[in-house]
Amino acid sequence: MSINRWVRPNIVAMTGYTPGEQPKMASQPIKLNTNENPYPPPNVVLQAISLAVGENLRLYPDQTSRPVREAAAMAYQLNADQVVVGNGSDDLLTMIMRTFVHDGELVATPEPTYTLYRPLTYLQAGRYQGVPWLSGWHLPVEALAALGAKVILVARPNAPTGHAIPLEEVARLCEQTTGIVVLDEAYVDFCRDNGLSLLAQHDNLILTRSFSKSLCLAGARIGLGFMTQKLAQQLHKVRDSYNLDTLAQAAATAALTHLEAYVPLTLAICQQRERITQALRQRGFLVQESQANFVLATIPPGRRDGHNWMADLKRQNVYIRYFGDEPFLQDKLRITIGTPEQMAIFLTTIDQLLSDN
Ligand SMILES: *Cc1c(COP(=O)(O)O)cnc(C)c1O
Repeated sequence: MSINRWVRPNIVAMTGYTPGEQPKMASQPIKLNTNENPYPPPNVVLQAISLAVGENLRLYPDQTSRPVREAAAMAYQLNADQVVVGNGSDDLLTMIMRTFVHDGELVATPEPTYTLYRPLTYLQAGRYQGVPWLSGWHLPVEALAALGAKVILVARPNAPTGHAIPLEEVARLCEQTTGIVVLDEAYVDFCRDNGLSLLAQHDNLILTRSFSKSLCLAGARIGLGFMTQKLAQQLHKVRDSYNLDTLAQAAATAALTHLEAYVPLTLAICQQRERITQALRQRGFLVQESQANFVLATIPPGRRDGHNWMADLKRQNVYIRYFGDEPFLQDKLRITIGTPEQMAIFLTTIDQLLSDN
C-alpha cells in the first residue's frame, strides 16, 4: 500500500534539506565544509556548561529561556520581550514559517541563497519563489515587494556568496512590502555592520542570529530572534515548549555576557579570509569578496570539475563544500575559513592538486 494516503501531499512532494558532511573527528580532518568556527568556545562558556551539569538536570529548563533573553537584551540594547530564543536559528526560521505562512501563501527570497528556506516553506504548505539578485549583488527590492509575499527572507551576509547588501536596501524592502521581512544574520559578526538599528523603524522586520558560526557553539544549537514585542508574543505560542535545554541556556548566557572573549577569534577569521581570498586568486580561482566566515571560489579552467575537487581534497582529508550541478554553483567551491594552520594545509593541498593537473 502506498504511504501517500497518509502523508501530507506537500511532504511527499518536497525534497529534504541536504546538510554538509560531518566526518569522523578521530581522523582529524581539515573541516572546511559547514562554516563552523575552527576555535573552541572560550573557557568561560565551557565552565558555565560544566556548572550546569548536575542534579538540576532533573528539572525542566526555563520555559522562555529568560536568562538568555535578558543577556541578549543587555548585549544588543533591546528589551528582553523583543527576544525569542531558538534551538539554533533554523528553529527560529521554522517558528516564523509556522506563525506567518498559511497553506498556499507565498514565501520569497533573493537567489541564490540558503537552501533551507525552500523546504521550510513546503513544510508549511506554502509556495516558494526565488528572485535573482540584481547585478552587483543588489537586493531586487521592487521585484520582491511586487510579489505580495507573506514572508521575504534575506540572508545578510548571504550564503553561499558571502556578500552583504547595503542596509538601506533592507530598509526600502521593509517599507515597500506588505509582508514580514526576515533578515538572517547568521554570519553578521564577520560583517562590517548589522541590521539592529533598523528594528526600531520597521515593525515588520525580524532579525535572526546564530551561535553556530561566530560563537563557536554549533553543537549546542542556539539562535536568537529580534523583533517587536507584539510579534515575539506570537512566536512564543508556536515554539516547542522547552526548545532550549538547560545546558544550552547556560552556554548561551555565558557567551552573551562574555562577547569580548570572541573578538580576537573573529578578527583572526576575518584576517584569514582576506589572506585566503588573495591566495586563491593568485592560483587562478575567481573569489568574490566575502563578509562571512567562508569564501565562494570559481574553479579555474582545467580537467578537474567541482565533484573532482571535492573528492580529491577529501582523499587528502580536507573537506570543503560543493553544491552540485545547480547552474550558478556548478563551477564553484565553498571554503570555510579555519585557523591559519588549517588554511596553510588547505593551500598546500590545493598546490599539490594543481601541480598534478
Ligand atoms: C548556518 C546558517 C543558519 C543556521 O544556523 P543554526 O543556528 O545552526 O541553525 C541560518 N541561516 C544561514 C544563512 C546559515 O548559513
